[in-house]
Amino acid sequence: MTEYPTPDLTGCPACAAPAEVTERVDLWSTDGPVEHARVLCVNRHVFTMATERLPAHPAPVDDEPGRRTSPST
Ligand SMILES: [Zn+2]
Repeated sequence: MTEYPTPDLTGCPACAAPAEVTERVDLWSTDGPVEHARVLCVNRHVFTMATERLPAHPAPVDDEPGRRTSPST
């Protein structure tokens, strides 16, 4: 048994640093079960929040090469 779950990466809601989803749990809300994720960021912030509200990507990196080729006229 050498099957490891791939770590889910997201962004920290507090500091926008890369954060890892360490656990997924179903919490019951008024509308039924909602999947929540336990998030641990690199700065040791810990959150439990609905997975649907997680940022889709880690902290945005505004460093695309070739993006500043020509200024808009
Ligand atoms: Zn953080």
